[in-house]
Amino acid sequence: MVVRAARATDLADLDAAVSDCFACPRLVEWREEVARTRRAAFRDQEYWGRPVPGFGDPAARIGILGLAPAAHGGNRTGRIFTGDRSGDVLFAALHRAGLANQPTSVAADDGLALRHTRIFAAVRCAPPDNKPTPAERDTCAPWLHREVALVRPTLRVVVALGAFAWAAWWPTLREVYALRPPSPRPAFGHGAHWSGTAVPELLGCYHVSQQNTFTGRLTPGMLDEVFARAKRLAGVD
Ligand code: SF4
Repeated sequence: MVVRAARATDLADLDAAVSDCFACPRLVEWREEVARTRRAAFRDQEYWGRPVPGFGDPAARIGILGLAPAAHGGNRTGRIFTGDRSGDVLFAALHRAGLANQPTSVAADDGLALRHTRIFAAVRCAPPDNKPTPAERDTCAPWLHREVALVRPTLRVVVALGAFAWAAWWPTLREVYALRPPSPRPAFGHGAHWSGTAVPELLGCYHVSQQNTFTGRLTPGMLDEVFARAKRLAGVD
């Protein structure tokens, strides 16, 4: 895995390589089973059923780090945060912030384009119950590390959506930036902010899960504040 990821010379190469990854038996079985059985509302659709690459500006100044694709969202459409309620909330916020050309993300060919922003996940296959195991997280990490290495020249800010993504950033710092992560690790929280030297600023944001957005734990106003702050820190108009 490390070797395959490290061989990718650009993002297109990386996207193609990750899409063909079969390293985690449990996740391969799950992504394919979901694609076979499908949700009733999508019964007539062909599911992607494979790992989901990152998406967005190859020269991104802002990275949005998520947990993993959703079983009937990214795992169905082949694009991260696309075709589910979490994506509805996220892309509406990115559009309000001027970081997306449209407020919706329903299919890989819907014309969505991101500005100064790239979205990637810590784990690239949909996990059962949205819970990858520590071994799956570690097996998948080289894909994230290589993607961050490829956007490193422009990347200034990373918004970690949830505690899992926040935790996934520290090994990335070590692997990509050769920086020893702070100890103890700064705690995740909504609005948490960590700065290092010559590395991207890290911002914490509650995950855009239905559990958070339906209960009002995460509101559109809170997302707007995070992206306004990310833009300021990244020097984006
Ligand atoms: S989770 Fe990552 S490492 Fe595991 S099969 Fe999917 S893409 Fe490969």
